[in-house]
Amino acid sequence: MELITHNLIGIIIQILCFTFLLFPLNIVCTILFAHLSHIFCDALSIITYHTPDRQKGDKFWIIWHYIIYLLSAISFFIFIIPYWLGMLFANIIDIWDWLILRPIQNKKREKNPESKWGDKYYLHRTVDWVRNKLFFWLPVRNYKKSGIMIEIFIIITLSIILGFLGPSLFIT
Ligand SMILES: [Zn+2]
Repeated sequence: MELITHNLIGIIIQILCFTFLLFPLNIVCTILFAHLSHIFCDALSIITYHTPDRQKGDKFWIIWHYIIYLLSAISFFIFIIPYWLGMLFANIIDIWDWLILRPIQNKKREKNPESKWGDKYYLHRTVDWVRNKLFFWLPVRNYKKSGIMIEIFIIITLSIILGFLGPSLFIT
């Protein structure tokens, strides 16, 4: 799913863990559940509009991603303190795969286009595994533009939950 969705889930997980668990379980569980949430959300993302590659010529794709990145940035700045832990681990797989591993792999492939180096280090392989085991029965809607409605619905639902939880800007 999109960055904003992962952020909101990470924040909710951190609030729940810090409300109901004591140190150090609150930190351990925030890290664990935020990480797992990414795997499950991404495994489910086949039902949302989520093209595997960039669609640079497609206005719809561009506008949708502008909105998503804007919302993600806003959520990031509002909640970074004190929810950076939940947000970080809700996105750690993407940070590793897309911001660290992929650029290194691209560098290696500049020298040797056949290079398979790094393929087995992609953490999204767990996502594929969970999807194949648990969600194989779901319809694949990655290229269906109406799929954004599902993601918007999820984002609104998460925002409402967050509103009820009343995120305090300081964890006491
Ligand atoms: Zn991901």
